[in-house]
Amino acid sequence: GAAIGILGGGQLGRMLSVAASRLGLRTHIYDPGAEPPAGHVAETVTTAEWDDEVALRAFAGSVDVITYEFENIPAATLDLLESLRPVRPNRRALAVSQDRLTEKDFLTGLGLTTAPYRDVPTLAALEAALAEIGPQGILKTRRLGYDGKGQARLKGPGDAATAYAEMGGAEAILEGFVQFSHEVSVIAARGVTGEVACFDPGENLHEAGILRTTTVPARLAPGQHMDAILLAGKILNALDYVGVMGVELFVTPKGLVVNEIAPRVHNSGHWTQAGCTVDQFEQHIRAVAGWPLGNGQRYADVVMENLIGEDVAKVPALAKAADVQIHLYGKGAPRPGRKMGHVNRITRG
Ligand code: ATP
Ligand code: MG
Ligand code: MG
Repeated sequence: GAAIGILGGGQLGRMLSVAASRLGLRTHIYDPGAEPPAGHVAETVTTAEWDDEVALRAFAGSVDVITYEFENIPAATLDLLESLRPVRPNRRALAVSQDRLTEKDFLTGLGLTTAPYRDVPTLAALEAALAEIGPQGILKTRRLGYDGKGQARLKGPGDAATAYAEMGGAEAILEGFVQFSHEVSVIAARGVTGEVACFDPGENLHEAGILRTTTVPARLAPGQHMDAILLAGKILNALDYVGVMGVELFVTPKGLVVNEIAPRVHNSGHWTQAGCTVDQFEQHIRAVAGWPLGNGQRYADVVMENLIGEDVAKVPALAKAADVQIHLYGKGAPRPGRKMGHVNRITRG
């Protein structure tokens, strides 16, 4: 049977691996970590550094197509892998989403609305940008940020120096503060032949920069619902994308504002495991393996709740509850802010 190579062995790689296995496809995980959570379910695991050319060649040689579960794969690693096997989603999708500045330029170039933003290579540039698009804003590192890491909030011009110092010399952009009523995301998929399928938008609640819950259906007027899906399709088509993408949106009185895109399965799409015939993980595997996309229609109302750190202590009680689907990532010791698992609660079947 065919084999899928997955770069990254976290919980997303793990759930992709389970989905592939259900379709009769073998998976090979590549991750520099010692005991990647996906390693327990994949057929083959390589734990080697991103610059280990021998290991990368052996990995590519053992699979038919390569995908990834996180966007920060080094460029040199991709150069090599791309020369050996198809990498899906493609390089451009990664390049665009690895750098917040490139990402914002791409999105605004498509005619979509983002937060106002400025490249701020120096403290003086930050002060000037704040005067233009402030007074409130968020300074974000251009690269490598996730779960709200690498961000500093500015309440006014007086915060510029402290916030700038917090970036620790990393390149950053300033975003104007968006006054949104709530956040939603669209999990969208595009197949090798260009067909697009979107899951119903979910409504996301963050706590301390980390996704806490996703609820479907999201609160969206019919027009906004359509807008969300159309703009996601526009992004995927523009990138000639193959696979699943998460598109995070702010809902404002003036319309939808794109926060960021993730070229992979997305935490806010975990509800699809309980709400759809084909969930985001199977959809992604179908897309990258060149299968037709599945039916992602939603047939239940679901609340997905992340189990973060000590939340896992709730699992025995959750196991007794009706209509709760439990997912644990096999990560070992809980640490504050560490995503240990999630539950999907059917609120209307
Ligand atoms: P993720 O884990 O989703 O990748 P991240 O670290 O990339 O998160 P963002 O999505 O950029 O961070 O921001 C995290 C959260 O902070 C957003 O979901 C939103 O709640 C808030 N936020 C980010 N940017 C803005 C903005 N410009 N205006 C208002 N709130 C914002
Ligand atoms: Mg992000
Ligand atoms: Mg985000």
